Amino acid sequence: MKPKVGFFEFTGCAGDLLTIVHSEDYLLEVLKAVEVVSFRLASSQGKREGDGLMDIVFIEGSITTTEQEEKLKELRKRSKILVALGTCATFGGVQAMYTGKPNFSKRFRSVYNKNFKIVEAFESKPLEYFVPVDYFLPGCPISPQLFLFNFPRLLKNLPVELPTYPVCVECKWQENECLLLKDIPCLGPVTRGGCLARCPKDNLPCVGCFGPVPGGNFASWEKNLLEKKYQESQLEKKMRFFFGAKIKEVKRGK
Ligand code: SF4
Ligand code: SF4
Repeated sequence: MKPKVGFFEFTGCAGDLLTIVHSEDYLLEVLKAVEVVSFRLASSQGKREGDGLMDIVFIEGSITTTEQEEKLKELRKRSKILVALGTCATFGGVQAMYTGKPNFSKRFRSVYNKNFKIVEAFESKPLEYFVPVDYFLPGCPISPQLFLFNFPRLLKNLPVELPTYPVCVECKWQENECLLLKDIPCLGPVTRGGCLARCPKDNLPCVGCFGPVPGGNFASWEKNLLEKKYQESQLEKKMRFFFGAKIKEVKRGK
């Protein structure tokens, strides 16, 4: 019997699932090894899954309502291996950038106004806040290469393997001119590699979408830029953009 695999989404933009769909040159070959029991984004009928046990469950998006929290807990019970797919599922995403700040409902109402009653939302949280997560595949969106590399590993019960070096390493491989040397606040030194330095390659500073690299020295990154023309509040906003739900750990260097 083929292993059963499911792909699910909560609050996000579907960019990670679309990245998987767009890997079509390799995807059909890879998926031959499994039975896909749910992949609403790739289904012409938009069908939801049944209710059985699944071998591997990939979940994109953060949790922002109690309905999603319940559904996530149900999916956890039905998963042998649960993988957080993308930066929203792993770190809470851009929608978690103000984690820890007061007045969530005021912020929510300023966007959706007081007549919006479709959902009662709370501050966006990553999956691991509610359930144990076996593996994380960060990225906004994820790297198709890292997905295709890790998918067969998971089928063989091997752990997900991610780069443990920062974006700067991939940037240097391509011999890009360093933006920090031009006093542009690039988060490359403190961000996990895996994207092949997509942004600095095009002369844009890294905004941290692959999340913090293990052992990243944020204090030093911040000190370096404070000595230039930047204010602490500007740098904190930059860090919060993708690391919002983890800002305390990131600042403590954990
Ligand atoms: S441009 Fe950014 S990612 Fe590239 S080396 Fe400089 S700091 Fe690192
Ligand atoms: S350079 Fe930074 S912001 Fe750009 S894709 Fe890579 S990790 Fe994301």
